[in-house]
Amino acid sequence: MPDRARQYEQVFSRNPTPMWVFDRETLAFLAVNDAAVARYGWSRAEFLGMTLREIRDAAAVPALLAAHGRPRLEGPLRGGVHRHRTKDGAALDVEIVADDVDWDGRPARLVLATDVTERERTAAALRASEARLAGIVDSAMDAVISVDAAQRVVVFNRAAESIFGVAADEAIGAPLERFLPERYRAAHGRHVETFGRTGATARSMGHPGAVTGRRADGTEFPVEATISHTAVRGADGREERLYTVILRDVSTRDLLAEQLRQAQKMEAVGRLAGGVAHDFNNLLTAISGNADFVLAELAPDTQARADVEEIRRAAERASGLTRQLLAFSRKQVLRPRVVELNDVVEGMERLLRRVIGEDVRLVTRCEAAPSRVFADPGQLEQVLMNLVLNARDAMPEGGTIRVATASVDVSALPVTAVRPGTAADGAVLLVVADDGAGMDADTQARAFEPFFTTKPEGKGTGLGLATVHGIVEQSGGAVWLDSAVGGGTTVSVALPAYAEAPVDADGASARPRGARGAVPLGTVLLVEDEPAVRTLAERMLEKAGYRVVTAANGREGLARWVEERGRLGGVDIIVSDVVMPDAGGRQLVQRVREERPDVPVLFVSGYVEGGLAASDMGGRTAFLEKPFRQDDLLARVRELLRRP
Ligand code: ADP
Ligand code: MG
Repeated sequence: MPDRARQYEQVFSRNPTPMWVFDRETLAFLAVNDAAVARYGWSRAEFLGMTLREIRDAAAVPALLAAHGRPRLEGPLRGGVHRHRTKDGAALDVEIVADDVDWDGRPARLVLATDVTERERTAAALRASEARLAGIVDSAMDAVISVDAAQRVVVFNRAAESIFGVAADEAIGAPLERFLPERYRAAHGRHVETFGRTGATARSMGHPGAVTGRRADGTEFPVEATISHTAVRGADGREERLYTVILRDVSTRDLLAEQLRQAQKMEAVGRLAGGVAHDFNNLLTAISGNADFVLAELAPDTQARADVEEIRRAAERASGLTRQLLAFSRKQVLRPRVVELNDVVEGMERLLRRVIGEDVRLVTRCEAAPSRVFADPGQLEQVLMNLVLNARDAMPEGGTIRVATASVDVSALPVTAVRPGTAADGAVLLVVADDGAGMDADTQARAFEPFFTTKPEGKGTGLGLATVHGIVEQSGGAVWLDSAVGGGTTVSVALPAYAEAPVDADGASARPRGARGAVPLGTVLLVEDEPAVRTLAERMLEKAGYRVVTAANGREGLARWVEERGRLGGVDIIVSDVVMPDAGGRQLVQRVREERPDVPVLFVSGYVEGGLAASDMGGRTAFLEKPFRQDDLLARVRELLRRP
């Protein structure tokens, strides 16, 4: 028997797993084996003077006491993983198996502690790596969706949640089909089948990269996808095939590309129109100017006089058209100033009522406060007129046109193109709404194109909205429309809001009309590349009593200036075109003003690349639009010569 006891004693003390027995009430060690001494670092004698508290975290002790105080175990306890301490303070993760025993009549517990520190460390590293990967997948802008061989979703990242409008919880386990439009499901099924059999990916089977997705709410959107396939070893050691789709919602990108294309088209047509209008304006100036000369020679009440007057009127109508073209092409010379949009609308009301006729009601609500914008008031009138005329044309049976202004925040607009004014982030909105025929999608897409019209010949020019577009853009604003067939149309114009008060209307737009006589004689340097216009202006000025020196471009103009400098008095005023080959008007004036800063200058043009800057217009500088009339030319020249 003593031999048997020694044998058991040996089984305990030489067991390679650390083991001990402790008192369940005091937690004192009652026996420890060699492996425990070796692993934990305390000697047997030290152990026997210690309690369980010394190898556990202080925080774990109360729970320990409570657990051990309970009635004895009925069968062995698998206690899970505990954190222990060794004598030198190192942490030790152990998996516990225990059972209760009687030890010299005391309630005690036998514990086997298997060291799993390494295993736990590996598991923790694995968890961290998994979290890292999940974080990366979740941070992707593209949707990442993986499905298993049964086509059930197993990975659904955050981007997928927001693109498809489905929570990951809900998507995991669902069939991939759910994210495709119905009509693609059959084809998809075939891919799945091939994939299941051969592992070939959809892309390697010639599936196009661009497909269509379907959101939870049923809407479809264009996606660009790459599809790949991976084989990983699952928990049970078997190979698991995953099929991963990485896709991007390209609906906004397509939209932006389309907007860019549209803008480029408008730009190209604008250049063309601007170029044609430029040459056309020169011809018109010659036509109407010469008609004026003929008129001056003709006796009243003759047939010839009536005929020439007819020529004059036709030329005037044509110049109205070129003005529209120039406005559209954004080459028109603007006279922008701070204006109250409400004043423009109110000022136009009577005229608008007259043109829309009796069957159509006009309701205005000017609620913008303040309604200050920086624009050419004449052009704002043109915008309003064009929009109201379109609204009227859309309601042949009558109806109501609503014109409203409002103050809004730029961030509240459905467009981003509004340049900030001086009132930070503020915009003034002009809305023209009708309850007429509306437009279908095709018409909406092309409505702003120049020469696009759905109206019968002679009725529409197709320049109305194009002009509006040009004017609004040039004024730093944006224009857009909402329309539905049979549901009316609303056109909205947003302009940057300005903080300053408007200038006195007379300040900027007064157009002195020429009372003849009392003209101070002087020398005019006339610079113009178009011979017809040059001859015309020369005659107009000479008739009025000026001495005229002519030049065909800026370089020649400078040569004349130098020649004239030698004479008594020199050049009194420069009348010059702006755009010319071989040094334009601006360069000439810049050069001359280095010598004589106060020389008066009248720019004459219908076409200015990028518009004339305010600095070009200050002091003794004025601008005359082509085509011009004799009266206007002379009045401008006289005024400039008088201006201090
Ligand atoms: P036009 O009026 O000379 O046809 P616009 O550029 O002003 O040229 O308009 C272009 C086209 O846009 C019109 O022919 C019409 O089809 C459509 N449109 C413009 N405004 C409206 C509106 N308020 N209601 C319905 N259709 C409109
Ligand atoms: Mg129109």
